[in-house]
Amino acid sequence: MQPFQYVRARSVGEAVGLLARHPEAEVVAGATDLTTLMRDGIRRPSHLIDLNGLALDKISALPDGGLRIGALCRNTTDDQRIVRRFPVLAEALRSGASQQIRNRATFGGNLLQRVRCPYYRQPEFACNRRDPGSGCAALDGDSSRHAILGTSGSCVAVHPSDCAVALQALDAEVVVRGARGERRIPIDAFHRLPGRTPEREVMLRDDEIILAVELPGRASSAHSHYVKFRERASYAFALASAAVAVEVRGGTVRSARIALGGVAPKPWRARAAERALLGRPFDEDAIDVAARAATSGAAPRPDNTYKVSLAQAVVRRALTELGGAR
Ligand SMILES: Cc1cc2nc3c(=O)[nH]c(=O)nc-3n(C[C@H](O)[C@H](O)[C@H](O)COP(=O)(O)OP(=O)(O)OC[C@H]3O[C@@H](n4cnc5c(N)ncnc54)[C@H](O)[C@@H]3O)c2cc1C
Ligand code: SF4
Repeated sequence: MQPFQYVRARSVGEAVGLLARHPEAEVVAGATDLTTLMRDGIRRPSHLIDLNGLALDKISALPDGGLRIGALCRNTTDDQRIVRRFPVLAEALRSGASQQIRNRATFGGNLLQRVRCPYYRQPEFACNRRDPGSGCAALDGDSSRHAILGTSGSCVAVHPSDCAVALQALDAEVVVRGARGERRIPIDAFHRLPGRTPEREVMLRDDEIILAVELPGRASSAHSHYVKFRERASYAFALASAAVAVEVRGGTVRSARIALGGVAPKPWRARAAERALLGRPFDEDAIDVAARAATSGAAPRPDNTYKVSLAQAVVRRALTELGGAR
């Protein structure tokens, strides 16, 4: 591990100032991903700026009935306002990692965790995301767990966060602060598709930190659900997952928000599936059309064609279970 300086930030201003002065610095939240990457020589920060002394671990109500969740809030939170009013998020959190890791992992860190592509995590392989311009070992290697949507010739890795998929279905905003002040980024714009620059993963600037995630207070968010398909019941990332929030009034679907995990380099908003549900009765036929539309534009590789039907299946199941629960 490369030597680094450790600083415990005493204020958000101090953390942001340090980041602005030291472009090779990284902040520490739960450290469950960062320390692994540092130990394996994949990330080599000059400074570690520890945020844990800052009061960024609160959950507070917003005037519109929504919630503001501090970036340092742990992934084991059992805040009943999340459980009752945003069940998709509570379910997504519970499905991630293990209880021990969730005890340390934070909201901010979960959104910013790096891809689990094995080639990214082993420096002996070429990886454009880790070493820009070096190539992508997954293109000629095993891409069975890789993306079918939103890929480029530079990178086909999937984004690993469950929480971020649920936040897509809730139309959340990420509140960030940097040397130039505070700004808000809609969750759909926060993570970037790889294009030719897969190393630029998020819209966060080098001097910015995440302060909080805000969930708008929409009644329909309470009618939401998360379904994750993985190889074992715990401690496994999604092969495909679906977060859905649907509002039904007068027998027809008035609004629908659907997002997919495990199938794209960012949490994937399935807008064609949403359009397929709007204005229709929330029945088996509509759900089937929406599930098939969820993967429109998919371009699987030869060893991950199974993900097309798997993604459709998790959408179908999430919508069916949501409909059945009404
Ligand atoms: C075995 C294992 C299984 C896992 N399974 C899952 C799973 O199924 N689903 C899932 O979603 N996750 C899973 N995880 C990931 C785990 O949830 C992440 O490690 C965790 O969310 C990262 O959070 P952290 O707070 O520890 O981040 P850290 O490791 O502290 O930070 C990660 C990155 O985010 C940056 N960062 C952190 N906070 C901020 C902030 N406030 N502002 C700016 N930058 C910040 C850091 O600088 C670093 O670059 C798994 C992890 C392990 C080890
Ligand atoms: S898929 Fe992306 S992360 Fe994996 S090796 Fe290729 S460039 Fe790197």
